[in-house]
Amino acid sequence: MGSQENKHSELHVVLIPSAGMGHLNTFSRLAVTLADHCKVTMVSNIPAVSSAESHHLADMFSAYPQIEFLQFEMPPYDTSDYPDADPFVLRWEMISRSAPDILNYVMKSSSVPVTAFVVDITIAASFIPLAKNLGIPCYIMFTSTAAMLSFVAYFPTYCDSKTTEDLGDVEIPGYRTVPLASIPGVLHDPKNLFTKQFVQNGRVLLKVDGIFVNTFESFEEDSLAALSDGHVQPGFPPVIAIGPLMPLNMPASGASEVFSWLDKQPDNSVVYVNFGNRTGMSREQVRELGLGLETSGCRFLWVVKTKALDSQDVEDLGEILEKGYLERVKDRGIVIKGWVEQDKVLRHKAVGGFLSHSGWNSVIEAAIYGVRMLAWPMGGDQRINAVPVVKSGLGMWAKSWSWQGEDKIVSGKEIGEKVKEMMADEALSAKARLIGEQARQAAAPGGTSYQGLVEFIQELKDRV
Ligand code: UDP
Ligand code: UDP
Repeated sequence: MGSQENKHSELHVVLIPSAGMGHLNTFSRLAVTLADHCKVTMVSNIPAVSSAESHHLADMFSAYPQIEFLQFEMPPYDTSDYPDADPFVLRWEMISRSAPDILNYVMKSSSVPVTAFVVDITIAASFIPLAKNLGIPCYIMFTSTAAMLSFVAYFPTYCDSKTTEDLGDVEIPGYRTVPLASIPGVLHDPKNLFTKQFVQNGRVLLKVDGIFVNTFESFEEDSLAALSDGHVQPGFPPVIAIGPLMPLNMPASGASEVFSWLDKQPDNSVVYVNFGNRTGMSREQVRELGLGLETSGCRFLWVVKTKALDSQDVEDLGEILEKGYLERVKDRGIVIKGWVEQDKVLRHKAVGGFLSHSGWNSVIEAAIYGVRMLAWPMGGDQRINAVPVVKSGLGMWAKSWSWQGEDKIVSGKEIGEKVKEMMADEALSAKARLIGEQARQAAAPGGTSYQGLVEFIQELKDRV
């Protein structure tokens, strides 16, 4: 082994994810990508919040033995201060409060000295100052768009000049204005746990050695440029566009009947409908959506979810859907309640369109496989994510459709028309395919994101 390789094998990157499948999927993919270049340890918090996360962790432990997993058991915490908090946000808070213990545990358990930490944005403020005190370089994995990163980076400055109670459009100098209607509603309440975390995490961004984003240069050129030119925040750390991080090779899981059904459908004919892991839909809206898919005349694979947390989503389809619905659509549609392997679905040649909430992992997966999208953002960062969906040409955005906290039902007629319009738009489909090629090129050796990864590894080598 040459001396260069010896040095290489000394690199040890420790990843500290938070909670939620969107966060865990990003970190798992990052772990596997980095493991080709250095030793990787991932800290996992058990038991996880959702069953989807617990299954994912178990599968990943066995499929990727090259990654070391440090299991950290959460101490019990009194969470009575936040009786209404979202369970994932609560877990972020618990992990944050455990930051000193987690870091101690990592430092004690590591046989190879830690070269760098990569911490999830949602828990960054509690980890970064402590990790920096250890003299170890710190990076953040930002789990959303570069567009959202611009907003998160600027928001503390905005808050310093106003109170979040009179939140308006947020004009980011030299970049763009984020309209009030696209800002997560929860940010109106400065006392809310999420809002407190969000502002603190935004402030800590300036203190890190670099920020990874699961995006790629040609997809979000404008936002990446605004961040690196210092328009959004002067002196902003390097933003490393490292995407698309590729889905893992995991054992089969979830609803397997999906694939035998897809195998029988013509190429590019199926609309895949899924709103991620954290978005439950009201029964009334579910029924309108069902009607919309039916009247669109398109084939569809629809994943129904009525509760934010999978373990509470116990009603069966018979109770949720209109009586007789499944029988009426059985020649054209399949409806699933539960987990499907989304990356394998999007990769399937029968799938030609994706009706999605535009959670960032979902968007980036659609980009990898070149599947056109109809974005129906429902909360959080999703409207901000929908901007690059439209700007890049990957998809359409139904702007007037309902948003978190609104008491509004989108009619089946409207949904059906829009779905039909997306599936008839051949130019959109061709553009999406082109984006798929660009995405895969960016991540492959010689591509812009691959280069970002190589430079990161080189920087670590230079520091050892
Ligand atoms: N996912 C999946 N099967 C499902 C639902 C979701 O594989 O039935 C995966 C999806 O591929 C994505 C992640 O879970 O990687 C969801 O993350 P995203 O950022 O899109 O949305 P969130 O769940 O955070 O709202
Ligand atoms: N976010 C952040 N700081 C925080 C919490 C969230 O920057 O303290 C960003 C992060 O990129 C996250 C996005 O806001 O993906 C949306 O938050 P949400 O609660 O909707 O999370 P997700 O669906 O990604 O789990």
